[in-house]
Amino acid sequence: MKKEYIIPIFVPHLGCPNECTFCNQKKISGQTKMVTAKDVKDTIEYFINHFKDEEKYIEVAFFGGSFTGIEVEKQEELLQAAYEYIEKGIVNSIRISTRPDYIDKTILKRLKRYKVKTIELGVQSTNNYILKKSKRGHTYEDVKKASKLIRRHGFVLGHQMMIGMLDSTKLDEIRTAKELIKLKPKMVRIYPVLVIKGTELEEQMEKGEYTPLTV
Ligand code: SF4
Repeated sequence: MKKEYIIPIFVPHLGCPNECTFCNQKKISGQTKMVTAKDVKDTIEYFINHFKDEEKYIEVAFFGGSFTGIEVEKQEELLQAAYEYIEKGIVNSIRISTRPDYIDKTILKRLKRYKVKTIELGVQSTNNYILKKSKRGHTYEDVKKASKLIRRHGFVLGHQMMIGMLDSTKLDEIRTAKELIKLKPKMVRIYPVLVIKGTELEEQMEKGEYTPLTV
C-alpha cells in the first residue's frame, strides 16, 4: 500500500475579505509574507527529499486563507508551480481549502485545469446565527450550494467544522455534523476553537462574553 504524504503550504490571510472573530492566520501559521511560486517549489523540494518510502502518494495542500479568493494571477502562479511536479510524476494531486462563498463554476474549471483533486470548505457551523456571531460572512445556504457544485464537478469534497464557537452549544454542533453528513463530504476535519491573541474573540473572552471549551 502506498504511503500517503501531504506537503503543506500556508497561504495566510490571502483572499480573505473579512476577519472571522476567532481567526488570525498570520499568528496561526507564523507567516506574514506573500507566498510565491519559488516558495512552493522550495517547499516541495524540501519535503520530497525527506520522504523515505518507495511507494508513495504525495499531495500538495494549500492551507490557510481562502485560496479561491486570492487574485487569479496569484492562484495560477501557485497552482502552476505545484502542477509542474504533477507533470513530472513526482506529486500526485493538489488540495486547496477555501470559503463556501468563493466557489463557482469558473473557479472550479480553473482548479480542474491544474489537477486540483480535493477542495476543503471552511464551514464551521450550519447555524446561520452562529456564523453571523463569528462574522464568517457566509451562510449555510452557501455551504450547500458550494458542496453540490464541488461534487458535481468531480472533486473530492472536504468539510471543516468547529466546536466551541461563540454561542454554539453541543446540540448545535451535533446538528452541524448531521447536516454536513447529508452533503456527503469524503472527509471532515473537526477543529476546536482556540483563542488566539489579537483576535476579536480574545477581547470577547476578556470581557466575559465568551468562555472557551475546557480541554
Ligand atoms: S475565512 Fe478562514 S482564513 Fe479567512 S478570516 Fe475567516 S477563518 Fe480566517
